[in-house]
Amino acid sequence: MNYPEMTKILKDTLSLRWVPVAVRMMRPGEERPPHTIEPAMPLRHCQSIIVARRGNCLYLPPRSHACPDGSGILGLVEMSPKLKSGDLYLLFKKLPTLEIAQKMIGSRPHFSPGSFQATLVAPLDQASFEPDVVIFTLWPEQAMWLCCAQTYHSGERQSFLTSGFNSTCADLVIQPMKTGEMNISFGCYGARASSEIDDFELYLSVPAPLLEPIVHSLVKLGQKSIPEERKKVYLPPVLDKVGSRRGDAPKGTDTHGVQVFIDEKQCLGDGLCAAFCPSGVIEIKEESGMRKAVAMHPELCSMCYTCAGQCPQKAIQISNT
Ligand code: SF4
Ligand code: SF4
Repeated sequence: MNYPEMTKILKDTLSLRWVPVAVRMMRPGEERPPHTIEPAMPLRHCQSIIVARRGNCLYLPPRSHACPDGSGILGLVEMSPKLKSGDLYLLFKKLPTLEIAQKMIGSRPHFSPGSFQATLVAPLDQASFEPDVVIFTLWPEQAMWLCCAQTYHSGERQSFLTSGFNSTCADLVIQPMKTGEMNISFGCYGARASSEIDDFELYLSVPAPLLEPIVHSLVKLGQKSIPEERKKVYLPPVLDKVGSRRGDAPKGTDTHGVQVFIDEKQCLGDGLCAAFCPSGVIEIKEESGMRKAVAMHPELCSMCYTCAGQCPQKAIQISNT
């Protein structure tokens, strides 16, 4: 699958507001790829991500990097002594002591000076280069589905290493490049103060080799789980099409205050409710050649609403009085 195809699936499945941004750290000796422009004025790395998601393919050598902290962390230049020492963090009142500043700097992912000659950023579907990482601007629900997609194909839960410091460079480029695993960032002081990331948005960065399996997983999740979650199918009460009142529940189905009422006129007997019920409350019974769902063990019902959410007929009503 190529990157434009992946971009379309990602945008459609997750309902992305912003196109994912491809980022490559240009190794020494690499040639500048075609269709990239060097911005007219220097940009911070976080600002370049914003410019890229607006449709621009950028080539940024050190002279086009406005943030000395970011370009030092990314291994484009030698970091200034004031930044390296942690003094500036105290001056900005972002950290309380030199000892704490040094600890933060020492634990921050970074590349050695001179490791790279430039950064390249572009909308994923327009990138004329092979990205190292792909950065997503997301709201939490979309980030959840990207995490689910990663677990879907790997079975693994995610571990993130993040901080409110140096987000777009250290947490979104270097950390995933070094570990080969996705990483999250909530932005940082610099990124939020100087670029256009909304208060309710966050970033998630995916190493390029993980992207295709994630996209395939999202296609599968998009067939059932994502639309169901977005429709809030388990939000009680689910009352659509239920024609009878609670008081009409057949004798014997009211236990410990929980009633599982199944409207037999609506029921198709397809067995979805019985299959999805985690507690074995519902069984499918056949009578006069007709299959119908019956709440055989309402005393086991935990009121999770799974059956009601899965029923295509909205034939199930759960109540506790
Ligand atoms: S899911 Fe609905 S239609 Fe299907 S068996 Fe259960 S109650 Fe009947
Ligand atoms: S509400 Fe949950 S526990 Fe109760 S019958 Fe439906 S699926 Fe089973």
